[in-house]
Amino acid sequence: MKRVYLLIALIPALLVLTGLAGCGGSDPSRTEYTIATGSKSGVYFPIGEALAVILKKTFPNVTLKVLETGGSVENLQLLRDGKVDMALVQNDIAFYAAEGEAMFNGQKISNISGIATLFPEVVQIIVRKETGIKTLADMAGHKIAVGNKDSGTFYNAQQLLTIAKVWEQIDQQYINAGEAMKEMQEGRIDGFIFTSGMPNPSIVELARKVEVNLVPVDPDLVQKLVNTYSFYYPSTIEANQYPGQTEEISAVEINAILLSGTTLSENDQYLMTKYLFGQPNELGESHPRLSKMTKNSLRRQMPVQLGKGAYKAHSEVP
Ligand code: GLU
Repeated sequence: MKRVYLLIALIPALLVLTGLAGCGGSDPSRTEYTIATGSKSGVYFPIGEALAVILKKTFPNVTLKVLETGGSVENLQLLRDGKVDMALVQNDIAFYAAEGEAMFNGQKISNISGIATLFPEVVQIIVRKETGIKTLADMAGHKIAVGNKDSGTFYNAQQLLTIAKVWEQIDQQYINAGEAMKEMQEGRIDGFIFTSGMPNPSIVELARKVEVNLVPVDPDLVQKLVNTYSFYYPSTIEANQYPGQTEEISAVEINAILLSGTTLSENDQYLMTKYLFGQPNELGESHPRLSKMTKNSLRRQMPVQLGKGAYKAHSEVP
């Protein structure tokens, strides 16, 4: 008899414990999640794949589906519409979304929260060497891919080339980086702009097949851009990042961040943050830039509020 009473007495406690496991457990609540990345010729896509591998190692029955997309603008729209759980985006574009400005004018996105800041992305301007283009001004009259309009790249190209007074003078091609590299290899365009991690493996490959030049952004112009728009930072592309690039050049950068939408519960966000970024060295193997992540850099320049789960996980990093 006594045993029965004991069991009955334990039932509420058991219910509380199982209930807790549901909303604050040590395993993710679902077996499948999605992350929006970018073009396969970018750095977002392979980073998405690296995150999926780490997640699988940590939770063998959990799959992270990696979506190829047009880039930051599309990724924010996918998050807003609840079509993906997480997305890699540029911090400048996330800021415009959160404030309802620029390309998100009047269409503020408020259901997004921050997970972590990952790495700087450099606005890279690559041209065919035979065009003789050495400065931004030289690009006038040339056929230049400026990114598809769903990308963050497009807005960086527009802002930079407008300040350089050459935006209206170029023959603008709205294609993604993957297509741009193909067109460039086949000699159909003279150059392209891509805001991406350094070095970008697809550009390394392209530069082995076609002689390319990296166009610098003059320090004066960098300063103007930094003064006009938030989130840009002066940057340098060190020598020998790409085949044939023998000199260091002046450039600008922004930061890539990871965001989530409301489809990711607080506890799932906590677990993702804890396991994906608790092992920065493992992630660092997927791209050299990721090996430089530190506890402080993970929270730097985040334009939207960190999610509660992410905040908790960050606080636990030693
Ligand atoms: N920053 C780019 C964009 O949003 C994507 C970069 C990449 O995939 O490497 O348009």
